Amino acid sequence: MAKHKTNYEDCDVLVVGGGMAGTGATFEARHWGRDLKIICVEKANIDRSGAVAQGLYAINCYMGMQWGENQPEDHVRYARNDLMGMVREDLGYDMARHVDSTVHMFDEWGLPMMKNEETGRYLREGKWQIMIHGESYKPIVAEAAKKSADKIYNRIMITHLLMDEEKENRIGGAVGFNMRTGDFHVFRAKTVIVAAGGASHIFKPRAVGEGMGRTWYAPWSNGSAYALPIAVGAKMTQMENRIVLCRFKDGYGPVGAYFLHLKTYTQNANGENYEKKWYDQTKELVGEYIDHHPTPTCLRNHAFIQETTAGGGPIHMVTTEAFQDPHLETVGWENFLGMTVGQAVVWASQNIDPKYTNPELTTSEPYVMGSHATCSGAWVSGPEDLSPPEYFWGYNRMLTVDGLFGAGDTVGGSAHKFSSGSFTEGRLAAKAAVKYIQDQKAEGIKVTDKQCDDFKEAIFKPLEVYTVAQNEITGGTVSPSYISPIQGLQRLQRIMDEYVGGIATNYMTNANMLKRGLELLAWLEEDLEKVGAEDLHQLMRAWELKHRALTSQCVTEHTMFREETRWPGYYYRGDHMKLDDDNWHCLTVSRRDPKTGKFSLEKVPVYHIVDENEKKKAS
Ligand SMILES: Cc1cc2nc3c(=O)[nH]c(=O)nc-3n(C[C@H](O)[C@H](O)[C@H](O)COP(=O)(O)OP(=O)(O)OC[C@H]3O[C@@H](n4cnc5c(N)ncnc54)[C@H](O)[C@@H]3O)c2cc1C
Repeated sequence: MAKHKTNYEDCDVLVVGGGMAGTGATFEARHWGRDLKIICVEKANIDRSGAVAQGLYAINCYMGMQWGENQPEDHVRYARNDLMGMVREDLGYDMARHVDSTVHMFDEWGLPMMKNEETGRYLREGKWQIMIHGESYKPIVAEAAKKSADKIYNRIMITHLLMDEEKENRIGGAVGFNMRTGDFHVFRAKTVIVAAGGASHIFKPRAVGEGMGRTWYAPWSNGSAYALPIAVGAKMTQMENRIVLCRFKDGYGPVGAYFLHLKTYTQNANGENYEKKWYDQTKELVGEYIDHHPTPTCLRNHAFIQETTAGGGPIHMVTTEAFQDPHLETVGWENFLGMTVGQAVVWASQNIDPKYTNPELTTSEPYVMGSHATCSGAWVSGPEDLSPPEYFWGYNRMLTVDGLFGAGDTVGGSAHKFSSGSFTEGRLAAKAAVKYIQDQKAEGIKVTDKQCDDFKEAIFKPLEVYTVAQNEITGGTVSPSYISPIQGLQRLQRIMDEYVGGIATNYMTNANMLKRGLELLAWLEEDLEKVGAEDLHQLMRAWELKHRALTSQCVTEHTMFREETRWPGYYYRGDHMKLDDDNWHCLTVSRRDPKTGKFSLEKVPVYHIVDENEKKKAS
């Protein structure tokens, strides 16, 4: 252990992850906490890190309140509809009422925004989306964070949260290691804001072998946002609500701009509108939800999955009509140049010119995240002016651990935040974290050297395991006494794929399969004590895997608990195929006991605040 130098840093606000939410939190913490010490720690480099670093062409959440385009209530109704009723409306409303101010700052900071030449307003791609040139998006928000923080640490992966040893259930900071130097880093902090993104690669991806790593969601998002709070006993919500995306096949090129801007549409192999065909069958499963407008994302997936299972595939996007217009053709290609160059390369390699050939679509493997058309994540307090008592415990976006805050993909129950909403939520969390400090809630925190040293030993253990176990390698990477991170990852992905509703079973699972999945996950957890890392990069892979495995346990427990199929198209409980509003019109909340590792789950009421308020006003 002596070979890994220990660095200590004491601070007021510690931001874990410098993506959209983390940069927003770092920026806002300085606004409210002029004299506070603010540190942001990032696994990669904040100039290009996080999901938006994949590239994007639109800000997907902008109300346009200054022009009366949309109001926060409209966005709550939209997100509620898309998630089949299951959202935290207090959180959604709170984000929506502040998101425009965030976007206006991006504009002031120099983000190239497209304008509607006739109206002078931001160019709309859809009801909520405005178009940008996204190349400079991440460097611009990173600059705001850099100017606000006392220090940004790049290339440090946070592996564990520290707990106060004086007062129960209070945060004390975080620890991690530098993936370049191998140094151990201790951040003793009065508040921690976790903003570490969502989780890809917990389910087996469609692209394996030579294509491994090609997923829709950023492969570097490894579920730290969930594993860190779960490990210290913070409550989580809606972790069963994984997301499946319908995307262009093999390159995962996004379809939003094609549907919204180019007005393209989908059809089955016989040229039919297949969605209509599955209307009656879907109505049987979910009742009137199928009549909602717009059709919830999961239900559109459902029709796709049913049609391909019934032999109607492949499903195509009809591009050959729109692409005859040279302007739309340019927009279609530019969309990929700005976002998913790989899709254009796939088409080139398969002789597909969308002007003459309709490209194929597919449904992705599931991902876990809290900011897209999905709402998995931590159970947090809402704002004091909106939240009912069950949803409020003092500080906005604070988890059920005192002094621990979350934003972006970390926070559950509040879907459709996207990049701008995640930055906004980071701002809200930081404002509350500063207030928590100013209210003297973080006085007298004690973190002993023993707590830090124990984590140091645990963090570098995979290097020790490898050093010893490499002597027993029988061939290639096979050794009886250790497993490599990639072997562990592939084992995890198979368990999740085959038992928890991945592509192997067409997103189908049931209680018996989930029970078996949990057994296999428990054995994997045991074996992960023997994960070996040959260098610092593999050490990062080892910890990414451990975080993915813990996140997966939580997802599986939640999927087992909700005895209904709330989101057909995201996953199916074969033993409870119907949506069941009588018993399951509620949010699911879990807690893992850090001492025993056992999960307990409960139902929490879902309050429809927006329409309730309107009903009250009318009466
Ligand atoms: C494929 C894709 C396309 C999208 N397209 C759009 C779009 O067109 N428009 C739009 O508005 N939104 C889009 N989004 C949504 C948007 O990217 C997310 O909503 C947003 O990035 C979430 O912010 P976040 O801060 O929670 O996560 P991220 O931005 O992903 O940031 C998480 C950060 O945490 C870091 N991190 C992770 N683990 C650790 C750790 N253990 N220690 C330290 N650091 C860590 C990561 O490196 C990363 O920098 C898209 C998302 C995806 C995946």
